[in-house]
Amino acid sequence: MEDPKTADRRLAVVGAGIAGMTAALHLQQAGYEVELIEQMDVLGGRFGVDRLGDRPVMTGGKNLGRKYSALREFLAEFGEPEYEEFGINTSRVLDGKILTLDSKQGALDKISRLRRLGPVRDLLKLAYLGFLVRRKEENRFLGSAAFIRIADRNDDRPLSAHFSPRIVRNMFRPMNVRMNGAEPDEVYLGTFGTNLNMIMDTYDQLTHGISPIIDALAKVVRVRTSAKVEQLLTSDGRIGLGISEHGGPVTDHYYDGVVLASPAYATAEIVKSELPALSDLLAEVKYFPAAVVLVEYDRPVFGSEVRAIVLDDGPCSNAGVYGINDLNIVRYTFSGRHARPTPTDDVLDEWIDDAEHHLTCLLGVENLRRVHTVKRIWDAAYCAYVPFHGKFLSQVHAEVAATPGLELAGDYLRGAPLEASCRSGIEAADKLLEQLKSAPVRTGHR
Ligand SMILES: Cc1cc2nc3c(=O)[nH]c(=O)nc-3n(C[C@H](O)[C@H](O)[C@H](O)COP(=O)(O)OP(=O)(O)OC[C@H]3O[C@@H](n4cnc5c(N)ncnc54)[C@H](O)[C@@H]3O)c2cc1C
Repeated sequence: MEDPKTADRRLAVVGAGIAGMTAALHLQQAGYEVELIEQMDVLGGRFGVDRLGDRPVMTGGKNLGRKYSALREFLAEFGEPEYEEFGINTSRVLDGKILTLDSKQGALDKISRLRRLGPVRDLLKLAYLGFLVRRKEENRFLGSAAFIRIADRNDDRPLSAHFSPRIVRNMFRPMNVRMNGAEPDEVYLGTFGTNLNMIMDTYDQLTHGISPIIDALAKVVRVRTSAKVEQLLTSDGRIGLGISEHGGPVTDHYYDGVVLASPAYATAEIVKSELPALSDLLAEVKYFPAAVVLVEYDRPVFGSEVRAIVLDDGPCSNAGVYGINDLNIVRYTFSGRHARPTPTDDVLDEWIDDAEHHLTCLLGVENLRRVHTVKRIWDAAYCAYVPFHGKFLSQVHAEVAATPGLELAGDYLRGAPLEASCRSGIEAADKLLEQLKSAPVRTGHR
């Protein structure tokens, strides 16, 4: 028999990135009819589903940490996925020599290499923050009590002001540029736990990419693609969305609950007319651009020892292999201050030529031929949060709590890593389910 609490109750999840996909599945599994609404014609958001020649690839987030338990559980809902090891392997050029850090190196070896990155005083501070992250799981995500206290004491100045220029240049810049698209003077200590956690994990990637998972999800959740949500509607205690499908006129749709799982700037636009205070808060969240280019060459570029190189004197911030067994496919990332504003196609082509030249000189490889290339420009690739993030979260939660049937998910709540965004989706779904338990059952939707 149908459960009268869930029967006929229709929910909407806006945004089909990892946050929205997890929220939608969670709500569907609780017995509700769910619509997953996505403005693009493909699902996946910043997974960046694409093709390199015939091969399905991802131009966005693809490296999955061994500690990504919620994300791995989500993936396992569709059958045990096949993973291939990616590890952590990163090199940088110091005094003209390539210095490599690899997850397979022993602790002593790593420490001696780390010592070259910054003074002992800074490494001790870092070790303390690392201890916090290791000790308690909540410290790996934004909004933990320990990092709220750290923010209270430190977020009046950016991260770069709390450490020596050497470690900022050698360690934090590559980390922030990679994980937030930001420079160390554009991020804050109160959100640093999520970044540290990233370098304390080791990584795998999905052998067949995310596409098979997305296809399986679309079989169990109702999906509307090419459907842009223009506006949240709240009237007579009801909640709804103004949606434009395939660029057509905006039509109103009402639901029993809505999760907005879009990035902060997009959610700010959606709620602007109905919840202006929430919109203003969300508009404060910083996002930075990036361009990602995958080039398949006619032969290996990297070797098994050096699989990625951090570059800091131009728009290309990182060049590395696409997968541990794809030494001939280079993924170039253009991010950070040198890579702004977002390039035109012609400018990006120049950047690729320069980066390729730089890389091949460093690695001593000559006369490479490009076989296939795929380019993706992300105007708002990475979230770089706000200072005093804990305070921001409390304000956001208070505004959302005043609108029954509404919940939020996305990278700006728990952190930019896929695991954090996935958890924000589960949390939003759980909160909505809690609300629905006590909400009266309505019949009929207009
Ligand atoms: C280049 C790159 C590399 C990365 N690498 C990694 C990595 O290796 N590991 C890792 O853990 N993380 C990585 N990340 C971070 C991670 O991919 C993202 O933070 C995460 O995917 C964000 O998921 P999300 O669901 O919050 O947002 P998104 O994936 O952006 O999903 C939001 C969705 O909402 C849709 N949307 C927005 N507005 C509307 C609207 N008005 N109506 C309808 N739909 C709307 C968007 O089109 C989008 O599909 C990377 C990110 C980038 C850009």
